[in-house]
Amino acid sequence: MPTDIQFELLGLSQQELTSLLEAQGQPAFRGRQLHQALYSQRLDSLSALTTFPKSLRERLISDGYRITYPKVEQHFVSQDGTIRYLLGFADGQSVETVWMPDGDGAEDSDSSIAESVPAAAPNRRATICLSSQAGCAVSCQFCMTALLGLQRNLTPGEIVGQVLLLLKEHQVQIGVDRINLVFMGQGEPFLNYDNFLRAACRLVEAGIPESRMTVSTSGIVPRFAEFAAEPVRPRLAISLNASNDGLRDQIMPINRKWNLEALMDAARVFPLRPRERLTFEYVLLSGVNDTPENAQEVVALLRGLKAKVNLIALNPGPEIGFQTPTPEAVSAFQQTLIAAGIPAYLRRPRGRDIYAACGQLKRSTLVPLP
Ligand code: SAH
Ligand code: SF4
Repeated sequence: MPTDIQFELLGLSQQELTSLLEAQGQPAFRGRQLHQALYSQRLDSLSALTTFPKSLRERLISDGYRITYPKVEQHFVSQDGTIRYLLGFADGQSVETVWMPDGDGAEDSDSSIAESVPAAAPNRRATICLSSQAGCAVSCQFCMTALLGLQRNLTPGEIVGQVLLLLKEHQVQIGVDRINLVFMGQGEPFLNYDNFLRAACRLVEAGIPESRMTVSTSGIVPRFAEFAAEPVRPRLAISLNASNDGLRDQIMPINRKWNLEALMDAARVFPLRPRERLTFEYVLLSGVNDTPENAQEVVALLRGLKAKVNLIALNPGPEIGFQTPTPEAVSAFQQTLIAAGIPAYLRRPRGRDIYAACGQLKRSTLVPLP
């Protein structure tokens, strides 16, 4: 962990900023100003904080306070418009954050609306996939991030910084452009729970509603009840990936700690908002978990739940010993779920050609030629 994290302003709440400034003899409104500067104006250095008197700014800087954004070490652009950013932190660690533009916004506008919107307000949609840890300790057999092992937890500022940096890079106008956040990059968010949640709160304060945030977990069951009770609670996605314990034990060793019964019990009592559903992700591995029997087992597991399933055909990687199923097998699996009344969607792979898709984040710098 970075040692001097106590001087990092990014990640702090308005109340924490206010107390920090009050300790410097400043009135409460300075806390509000600094909060606004961090999360709305996306200021990336204290010297740009011109709403503060120069003397105060300089004192904060000389005391060691700072605003640290991650640095873009490299970025890779996919044929489908997805961009994978390799972002570095002060101690040399790095993670990936992925920008996925969803179309060009054309579906949002008809000509009458377009005329009333200024040219500078493009009304874009995009999804940002962010990392909560560098690497991951969970060891899922189909996932390239697992091969990194756990490097370290990210701090709240490092999690928030990924998003603010991309919003800045793409000149996103919150309230005009439609941004979704998915905590589905490197790491298991529920194994860095406090920092993940703190970051989610700051991102809500930055104007991204919790209903547009989804956290995906491999099934860290003891966190479910706590998460359910949080005042700021993003949507929950559960990586199911197998239809019985024998299979899940093999491909997701975490299942030996919290098995399907424990996981489904926790899912069943998870309180949902009106119109909200749980999402279950299911990575399809050819000949391993994609048979009609597996689909029937998934149907049985999800019976009675307000849930939908996102099917993900395996995104391949050089060190991954599984095969992507054929489109026919994927479609047959999907149809079995739909026929049983379970909404099932196929997740479109984004940025597979640059190792940006689900399960491919392993800081690869050599990407295959198009
Ligand atoms: N650690 C969290 C979130 C990050 S992984 C979790 O596991 O839920 C995001 C999603 O990618 C998970 O649903 C995971 O099962 C899936 N995934 C992992 N490796 C994959 C691969 N090679 N192809 C397709 N999806 C994969
Ligand atoms: Fe970790 Fe998720 Fe990959 Fe499993 S799928 S190793 S939990 S990042």
